Amino acid sequence: MQKIVAIDLDGTFLNNNYTISTIHADAVKKAQEKGAQIVIATGRAQFDVQRLFQNQDLSVWIIGANGATTYDPDGSLTLPLPLKSIYAKEITRWLAEENYYFEIVTDKEIFITSNAKQLLEDEMDIVQQADQEEMRNAKERQLGQANIKEIDDYMQVFQEEKNIYKITIVSFDEERRRVAADTLGKNDLNLYSSADFNLEIVAGQASKGYALKKLAKKLDIKTEDIIAVGDSMNDLPMLEVAGTKVAMGNATDEVKEACDYTTETNEENGVATMLEREILQN
Ligand code: CA
Repeated sequence: MQKIVAIDLDGTFLNNNYTISTIHADAVKKAQEKGAQIVIATGRAQFDVQRLFQNQDLSVWIIGANGATTYDPDGSLTLPLPLKSIYAKEITRWLAEENYYFEIVTDKEIFITSNAKQLLEDEMDIVQQADQEEMRNAKERQLGQANIKEIDDYMQVFQEEKNIYKITIVSFDEERRRVAADTLGKNDLNLYSSADFNLEIVAGQASKGYALKKLAKKLDIKTEDIIAVGDSMNDLPMLEVAGTKVAMGNATDEVKEACDYTTETNEENGVATMLEREILQN
């Protein structure tokens, strides 16, 4: 019986230093040897996932940008769900006017404006409700992504008519995140938060769940043979479509309640424990 295992990345497959442990990498290789299809499902862009995987001898399916892109193990885009250009333009115009830090994600690059870093730094000086170290980590996480390209004017992206899969907003100010979600969440769009301080906007159809369901169908794998594991709210759609739902030990209470059981934390290699139980022991 072929199974598909969908694994979230941050807080799940990655440890807290954003790296992949040998135990996690080995467990995935063994599961693949037993015939399991492994898919990494993440809010990150696919090329950013590839960078994290570059020193690992692993090839996996990748559901990137919260389901807006699905790539096969050879790196071909199989299910693209871009944002409507008119929405993307409206959103970026508003974000630029309101001085938000934002990223425009295509299939090759992450565009930020040349004043973006300064915007984040200014917020770090003003915001009181967040811890300085947490803010620094979040800033490093964003600016450490692969293929970040600075442009003077965000309109350049629209002039080149690139497909936009995701717009990411980062604000350390909770109220500013709420205002952005209220203002931008009106159209046919999906909004997620996959990391502290962020808000991600993708096409209304795009979710980790929709992409996983489509992929399972393509691979002719039944719902009951779908296993999913994650730690936060943006994993709920993929947990919903899975026959076996697993929460990380570090998952939010809401995710734990939605799951069949809870494995260890990401720092304790909880994905390896889950793969042992679901794939390797059988
Ligand atoms: Ca996560």
